[in-house]
Amino acid sequence: MFGGVEAGGTKFVCGIGTGPDDLVTAHFPTTTPEQTLRSVNDFFSRHNGGPLQAIGIGSFGPVDLDPASRHFGHITSTPKQGWQYVDLAGLLRQALNLPVALDTDVNAALLGEARWGAAQGLQDAIYITIGTGVGGGAMVHGQVVHGLVHPEMGHLHLPHDWTADPFPGLCPFHGDCLEGLASGPAVQARWKQPAHTLPPDHPAWTIEARYLALAVMNLTVTLSPQRIIIGGGVMQQPHLFPLVRNEFARIMNSYVRHPHLSTGLDEYIQPPALGGRAGVLGSLVLAESALHQAEGSR
Ligand code: ADP
Ligand code: ZN
Repeated sequence: MFGGVEAGGTKFVCGIGTGPDDLVTAHFPTTTPEQTLRSVNDFFSRHNGGPLQAIGIGSFGPVDLDPASRHFGHITSTPKQGWQYVDLAGLLRQALNLPVALDTDVNAALLGEARWGAAQGLQDAIYITIGTGVGGGAMVHGQVVHGLVHPEMGHLHLPHDWTADPFPGLCPFHGDCLEGLASGPAVQARWKQPAHTLPPDHPAWTIEARYLALAVMNLTVTLSPQRIIIGGGVMQQPHLFPLVRNEFARIMNSYVRHPHLSTGLDEYIQPPALGGRAGVLGSLVLAESALHQAEGSR
């Protein structure tokens, strides 16, 4: 039995179980690190002494995933007030006395989708979330990519037609990167109304689909994934998927040729099969790897 934590800027989702058919969850608002982690500890402590073997955490970032770093397991330079350099993995490891593994929220979601969802059986896949922020994770040869730090696909730079879209973007670092132009808060700021209140025929969605298609195009030509899963609150607009697929096909212009990129686009670009549970379920996969690592080093 594993524990999973999806650590988000708004809420923490905790789960205990073994998979989608066996998962008990609870969620807590993200307040101060002390208060939030106390709620998380209490949740798991109630089940500890029982069969809980390890904890996995998929967290908002940036996070330090380098075992050689003194901030390994910490959230690092986040703009989230009070959460800079919080030792998320260390604090939970100490409190619960269990092996803990940490990765980004999107890598966790991707692991969940690869085990039980829309990327099952694939070796190369990408998961992007379009929510309060934009983030992405990649699996290459069956392994999630960390690289130097970890991918930050939300900050891709895309062609920005200032005439068609004079909105300057919201990213505090880059202005009009993908996150700056296409996150939920960016949609809201551009149109001065919350994204979920914009009707399906609103021009907002053509612009949104354009940026998402450009991102999918860039990721396709960079990593050649077998599938790109797009989740997050903004994708709760189901009509966005056909718009993104059509725009992607238009700008790809048949350059990369594969049936998945023509007749198979409905599968190539698709929502997470695990829906909002991808992150917490993927954290169980991380927990499993924490256990294997702990057993291996014993
Ligand atoms: P977070 O990124 O904080 O983990 P979400 O993925 O749910 O959470 O993203 C929240 C963002 O998604 C908000 O900015 C909100 O405007 C947007 N959003 C939530 N629901 C919808 C919806 N039904 N349609 C469009 N946008 C939505
Ligand atoms: Zn940016």
